[in-house]
Amino acid sequence: MLDTAIIKQLEDIVGSGNVLTKKADLVTYSYDATADMPSQLPDVVVMPATTAAVQKIVLLAKEKSLAIYPRGAGTNLSGGTIPLKKGIVLSFQKMDKILEVDPENLTATVQAGVVIQALSDAVAPYGLIYPPDPGTVTTATMGGSVAECAGGLRGLKYGVTKHYIMGMEVVLASGEIFRFGGKTVKNVTAYDFASLFVGSEGTLGIITEIIAKLIPPPKFRKAMLASFKRLEDAGNTVTGIIKAYVIPATLEIMDKMTIQTVENYAKVGLPTDAEAVLLIEVDGGAQQLVDSEAEAVLKVIKENNGEVKIAQSDAERDQLWAARRAALPALAQLSPTTVLEDATVPRNRITEMLVAVQKIAAKYQLKIGTFGHAGDGNLHPTILADARNKEEMERVHQAVDEIFAAALKLGGTLSGEHGIGMAKMKYLKSELGESGLNLMRRVKEALDPDYMLNPAKMVPVKG
Ligand SMILES: Cc1cc2nc3c(=O)[nH]c(=O)nc-3n(C[C@H](O)[C@H](O)[C@H](O)COP(=O)(O)OP(=O)(O)OC[C@H]3O[C@@H](n4cnc5c(N)ncnc54)[C@H](O)[C@@H]3O)c2cc1C
Repeated sequence: MLDTAIIKQLEDIVGSGNVLTKKADLVTYSYDATADMPSQLPDVVVMPATTAAVQKIVLLAKEKSLAIYPRGAGTNLSGGTIPLKKGIVLSFQKMDKILEVDPENLTATVQAGVVIQALSDAVAPYGLIYPPDPGTVTTATMGGSVAECAGGLRGLKYGVTKHYIMGMEVVLASGEIFRFGGKTVKNVTAYDFASLFVGSEGTLGIITEIIAKLIPPPKFRKAMLASFKRLEDAGNTVTGIIKAYVIPATLEIMDKMTIQTVENYAKVGLPTDAEAVLLIEVDGGAQQLVDSEAEAVLKVIKENNGEVKIAQSDAERDQLWAARRAALPALAQLSPTTVLEDATVPRNRITEMLVAVQKIAAKYQLKIGTFGHAGDGNLHPTILADARNKEEMERVHQAVDEIFAAALKLGGTLSGEHGIGMAKMKYLKSELGESGLNLMRRVKEALDPDYMLNPAKMVPVKG
């Protein structure tokens, strides 16, 4: 329990209706979307509406040695928002203002709590889009997705969050407010602070405002579903499409277990006898270009023994993407605990990674449904288990160890888009080495010497 004097000070900053201390409220903030993680009640949840309020909260937390856990929608998949050391959960739900859409500079300025879809809706009347597109666009916040450098379905052609962040306002652990970047397309003044804060998972500073880059949408597009009798053929098709120098907007994979589960859940007409499907969309500014890219893709699919169904209408296309977005919720229905990973490999090693995951599933006698952003080499092997079954969870943990080891052996990385949080901290050394860990600590300690911001996440404390 926090001293009532501190609660009173927080109420003075944000108003009493924006401070939560009842257990029933705190429980909601004790966990996030990540499975197989410990939960922890915070001491208090605070919902500021302005940067000035965030600054005051940081200064108070610093004075009282309280941890601060920034939280958007809590949809992250790495335990990033669990308040392990108690203290303050800083919720951004009241900082949800779109401050400006600037169609001349193709930018939007938003508060960190704006939901990604709300930004997309606000820029649509200007004929613009914000391309980063995680599966949670309708719930995840701009602040959370910037802090995670979220990827999503359009990463292959349009890039990920870091490619769309031009400037920010950040409250540092010292309490200073720091603004950097802006609306200029070019900016090499000082260090590249956007790169430092994007993907920093709330450990280096609290993001309060974001200047995002917008683009005009492609005018033409063609979506298709390719099904395969062998998983290897699907993997080779992914590599083949890239090798043909076609960069689809979206190139997603679902394996047999995922296809069957999604079909059972969403009834969209997926081929339940296929070993794998690819969902592919090509787009561009000219119909002829889109047609020729689609032709090239069809050729690669045929060479790899695939069968294709082309979406004949926008409704059919939307159905395909609805099916893909249903993958995780559908798999999650099958078992109480859904352990989802996002190991990522170079695109030409995707077949080897798919086969490795299959072998690991057989070795540990686990159900693993694999789907993901195949064109980015970013797979989401999803282990279906029950956390109450200790023996099974032991096998799950061994399988996860092997999935990461396989990705690193193939020249890949621990996380393509879900971040490290607390879930993957123990694996960091295997990718970065001791010198990398030391560098992480030095960066953290330069900005947050007391480990006040999102402590026990991303950066392992020495010893
Ligand atoms: C069904 C499902 C599908 C998903 N699909 C994708 C996908 O396709 N691609 C993808 O990349 N991710 C995906 N995710 C993961 C998740 O949606 C994204 O990481 C999302 O961007 C997190 O946003 P959020 O607002 O929920 O952040 P939160 O979960 O609240 O926070 C995420 C991290 O950011 C920090 N943070 C939050 N706000 C701030 C702030 N203002 N300042 C500083 N730090 C802050 C938190 O401390 C935490 O470390 C998916 C998750 C689910 C459950």
